[in-house]
Amino acid sequence: MTEVDVVVIGAGLAGLGAATALRQAGARAVVLEAAGRIGGRAHTTCPPELGGVWFDHGAVWLHAAERNPLVPIAETTGETLLRSDELRQERTFVEDRPATTAELAAYDTAWDRFSAAAVPLLAPGQPDPPLAAVARCLPDDPWAPTVEAWEGPVICAVDADRFSLRDWHVNQLTGSNLVPEGGIGAFVSRRLGTGLDIRLNTQVSRLHWDTPGGGVAAETPSGTVQARAAVITVSTGVLAAGTIRFDPALPAAVQDCIAALPMGLAVKVVLRATGQDRLDLPLHCSLDRKVGRSGEPFMPFQCWPFGRDYVQGWIGGSTAWELARAGEAAAVDFALGEVRRLFGSRVDRLFAGGARLVTHWDADPLIRGAYAYALPGHADARARLAEPLADGRLVFAGEACHVGLAGTLAGAWITGRKAAGHAMQAACR
Ligand SMILES: Cc1cc2nc3c(=O)[nH]c(=O)nc-3n(C[C@H](O)[C@H](O)[C@H](O)COP(=O)(O)OP(=O)(O)OC[C@H]3O[C@@H](n4cnc5c(N)ncnc54)[C@H](O)[C@@H]3O)c2cc1C
Repeated sequence: MTEVDVVVIGAGLAGLGAATALRQAGARAVVLEAAGRIGGRAHTTCPPELGGVWFDHGAVWLHAAERNPLVPIAETTGETLLRSDELRQERTFVEDRPATTAELAAYDTAWDRFSAAAVPLLAPGQPDPPLAAVARCLPDDPWAPTVEAWEGPVICAVDADRFSLRDWHVNQLTGSNLVPEGGIGAFVSRRLGTGLDIRLNTQVSRLHWDTPGGGVAAETPSGTVQARAAVITVSTGVLAAGTIRFDPALPAAVQDCIAALPMGLAVKVVLRATGQDRLDLPLHCSLDRKVGRSGEPFMPFQCWPFGRDYVQGWIGGSTAWELARAGEAAAVDFALGEVRRLFGSRVDRLFAGGARLVTHWDADPLIRGAYAYALPGHADARARLAEPLADGRLVFAGEACHVGLAGTLAGAWITGRKAAGHAMQAACR
């Protein structure tokens, strides 16, 4: 039996943010993490199939760098931050040819037309429609389905017809995107866990949040941790799966928030080249194509990132779930098909016999998807899930709880720190 002020469940960004804030406030806190590492969805490895270069399986970028609290931490701890946006060049195809100058100009301004069309749909007092309602207001705009595909499945990991327009609107990311050299997961494990009491391989199976003494008790296979308050940072996918039993059961309003914030999925598919051909693309190039219709499966690519010898496709939403169920070979075939439709059979020569890598966040029982989205009509669920229960004795945190930077490392970190404040108050009562 361990006794502390606050027990934190999960050592992803929210858990690390909470534990850091608690340490800074002088509280005794312990973090219980089911996996054998910290970082959660920030996870870097050096896969041999990619020649041993660092590779982020989950998060890659420090988004919205100008307001991202992890950026000053990285800077003051001596991390090198790569300015990915400035290094990147972009190429857009229309069917099997590069877009013309006129087409690119129309594509450039399509984002403004999309945002403008969203404004009346977001008017106060209106019902909260799905994101797909925006493109429906632009039937004659040839680029609206492409913008929709980026904003829905690619960026938010969910199809536009399942996704709250208000949730999309308040969480749009602006500003620069920075990449810590060596990988974001490596940065997190190197810099954000030091000095914290973290118990790895310690899965919480049950949380009593109304013990006779007015505290909480987290049950794990290696014993029980008693505390005055608990911060829960596991994903909404894990909460919905019921792998942590809450005693008493969570109030219906909280269960409704969890159900209103399901996990989207994004799958990365990496194809390593065997020859010298670089498809006439610059190194560190973002490649996309015009999407023909709303809901059409769409996989943009990062080609030769940082001068490497692979392309990396990214697909989100229902097609990502389908490919994840169908297996790695299906995901690789899909990615090859997408590059082939732009470059023809030279793709087969280039990638024949080359290594492949497919990410599997759906299959990780400790995560169960990529990040949470709000269903139409439920944009308020994030803020409601973050409201402390039992005077701060039980507080939820994590990317699903942030409004403004939802689905990001920064959002998770901020919610963790805020939840720590509530838990501290409960611990001091
Ligand atoms: C493919 C992909 C790409 C992404 N790209 C970006 C990006 O470029 N930039 C960005 O900012 N964000 C990105 N994200 C999102 C970002 O990774 C997440 O928003 C963030 O990492 C979530 O942190 P968290 O602390 O809320 O949750 P998690 O990282 O899920 O942390 C929760 C922790 O709880 C642990 N846990 C689960 N169950 C238990 C249990 N019963 N007991 C104890 N511990 C448990 C888990 O192992 C995990 O470590 C991406 C995510 C994915 C999947």
